[in-house]
Amino acid sequence: TPGVRPLVAGNWKMNGLKASLAEIEAMRKAVEAGEAGAAELAVCPPFTLIAAAAARLEGGPVTFGGQDCSPHASGAYTGDTSAVMLKDLGATYAIVGHSERRTYHRETDADVRAKAEAALKAGLVAIVCVGETRAEREAGEAIAIVSRQVRGSTPPDGAPDTVVVAYEPVWAIGTGLTPTAADVAEVHKAIRALLGEIYGAGGATVRILYGGSVKPANAKELLGIDNVDGALVGGASLKASDFLAIAAAY
Ligand code: PEP
Repeated sequence: TPGVRPLVAGNWKMNGLKASLAEIEAMRKAVEAGEAGAAELAVCPPFTLIAAAAARLEGGPVTFGGQDCSPHASGAYTGDTSAVMLKDLGATYAIVGHSERRTYHRETDADVRAKAEAALKAGLVAIVCVGETRAEREAGEAIAIVSRQVRGSTPPDGAPDTVVVAYEPVWAIGTGLTPTAADVAEVHKAIRALLGEIYGAGGATVRILYGGSVKPANAKELLGIDNVDGALVGGASLKASDFLAIAAAY
């Protein structure tokens, strides 16, 4: 999208031990050496590694975020992590509404919106994930489902640069399957139109990421599609070499 700097964000999910911090250091080195192309690189490690990752990324060009955040700022919510805490570490992003959280933690659109609003309130950018299941796509409902999720999960008052939407077809996540370029284009176009309804003129510059089995081998094709402003990468973000090879599509 013209005038929009693409974002390639890595979602490490529940992967990574202290030794994996070397990958984060390698990402920083490569970006600083100008080897990573024009996109912004962001990494979302598990919560246990964020403070250590923050120390390694401080003052550099690679941004980072959490994979989730609480809708609350603080309080008696055992096991949860707030957007305020992420911001305190220097985070830029919070992923909210990933399909794994919608499925395993039964997060609804309203839950996801509350988390996105908490992220914005704390000064973070919310990466709001949406996407249809295989059954929904086969039933011809992909656009309807994704539209409902975008309407229900994005914070309505978010300025365009504080919200990112990630389209991640559930059936493409971790499966090696990807939609056709035409299908990606169709969904991203629908999301773009919807963002115009929600945010007015600002909707034109909200970044819309594609996610689901993005790899070095398919990055150029997927990231070249209209209204695809970057990628949310799972498995291929764990190794700096793969992640950087995806980013090099820009
Ligand atoms: C994800 O879960 O955000 C994702 C895109 O995973 P993968 O790249 O492994 O399909």
